[in-house]
Amino acid sequence: MRTVEGPKSKFLKVKCPDCGTEQVVFSNMAHKTYCLVCGKLLAKPTGGKADVLSTEMKVLS
Ligand SMILES: [Zn+2]
Repeated sequence: MRTVEGPKSKFLKVKCPDCGTEQVVFSNMAHKTYCLVCGKLLAKPTGGKADVLSTEMKVLS
């Protein structure tokens, strides 16, 4: 098993499942992230790690 977790935080690019807007979120976010366009919840913090609710996401190193 390989882990991609590291001490460094990452930026994640997520796509809103409702309106398709792409947004960059921080992997160690402290607050919930909502879609800027439609207000849908895209990601929420869970113990220091982001729980991304988006259907699509890319890791931006
Ligand atoms: Zn949206």
